[in-house]
Amino acid sequence: MPTTTPLNLQKINYVGSKNSNICLRMARLNQINKFASGNKIYKLRPIIANAKANNYKQILSFGGAFSNHIHALALLAQKHQISSIGLIRGEPEYAQNPTLSEAQTAGMRLVFINRTEYKRRNDPQYLQNLQQQYPDVLIIPEGGSSQLAIQGCAQIARDIDLACLNHANSILAVASGTGATAAGLACGLSGNQQLNVYSVLKDDTLKSRIDAFINAEQLGMKKPNYSLYQADFGGYAKFDKPLLAFIMNWLEQTGILLDPIHTSKMCRYVIQQIEAGEFLSDQSITLIHSGGLQGWRGMQQRVETLGGLNAWKRIDDYLENGSIP
Ligand SMILES: *Cc1c(COP(=O)(O)O)cnc(C)c1O
Repeated sequence: MPTTTPLNLQKINYVGSKNSNICLRMARLNQINKFASGNKIYKLRPIIANAKANNYKQILSFGGAFSNHIHALALLAQKHQISSIGLIRGEPEYAQNPTLSEAQTAGMRLVFINRTEYKRRNDPQYLQNLQQQYPDVLIIPEGGSSQLAIQGCAQIARDIDLACLNHANSILAVASGTGATAAGLACGLSGNQQLNVYSVLKDDTLKSRIDAFINAEQLGMKKPNYSLYQADFGGYAKFDKPLLAFIMNWLEQTGILLDPIHTSKMCRYVIQQIEAGEFLSDQSITLIHSGGLQGWRGMQQRVETLGGLNAWKRIDDYLENGSIP
C-alpha cells in the first residue's frame, strides 16, 4: 500500500446546517498539493508505482480538455520521471488552455482525437491498436479508473479513519463520476463508517459500474454497502447561477473553495438533505473534498457572466493563495 498522507479533517460551520447537532467535517484531499491533488492522487499513486516497478517508461491516458485526471497524471508522471501521453477529446487549439498548457509544461505529449474516436476509449480492439502504435506505453483508462486506482482510493477511507479516531462513527460523502473512487471507499470502509455516493452524472449505469468495480476488488467477499444519490443538478458539468451562488456562500462561510463539477454538487445535495431532516439529528458527516480546483481556471468568463467580476476575483484570489487572503 502507498504511504498514508496525514489528512486535514476540518470542522465546517455552515449556517444552513446550524439548527441541527449534525457534525460536519471536510476531508481536505484538495490540500495534498496545490493543484495536482484530490482523489486523482490517490488513484494515480499505485498506478505509477506499478508502472515504475514494471519498467514502463511511458503512461498514456484519456481525458477532456479540462480534465483533472490528465492534469494530475502529467504532474505526477513528471515527478516520478516517467513520460506521459494524453489523448484529448477535441481540437488542438485547446492546448492553450490552463489545464493542458500546464500538462505540456510538465512534459506531457498531447494528441487530440475527435469525439467518435474518443468514444472507443474502452473498446478492446481500439486499445490493442493503440498498444501497437505505442508499443512501450502503459495505457490507463479515463479518470485513471483501473483496479489499482480502486485500491488507492480505499486508502482515503483509512486516512479519514486515522484522522478522526475519537469521532469515527461517520457517514462519508463523496462525489462520483466513473465510480472508481466510490468503489475504493466502499472497499476501505471501517466498521463504523457508512458511505453516501453522490452521482454528478445523468447516467443510470453508475450503480452497476460501482458494483462491478467492487466485485472485481472484493473477489467474492461480502459486498460493502453504500447509498447512491442523484446529484447532477441538471447534468454533468452543468454550471448555473444557483450552483455558483451556493459555492460563493460556502466559500464565505467556511473559507473553503469547492470545485465546480464534483464537490460543490455533493455538498449542495448534502445540505439539502440536512435541511430536509434526512439524517439522524446528531449524525457525523465527513464531506470528501476530492480536489479539482485547477478546473476553475478555464471558467473565468462563465463565473463573471453568472456572478459578476467580484465572484471571479474571490475565486482567483483563492486559487493564488490557497485560502481567502
Ligand atoms: C475525477 C473526480 C471525481 C470523480 O471520481 P471518480 O473516481 O471518477 O468517480 C470527483 N471529484 C473530483 C474533484 C474529480 O476530479
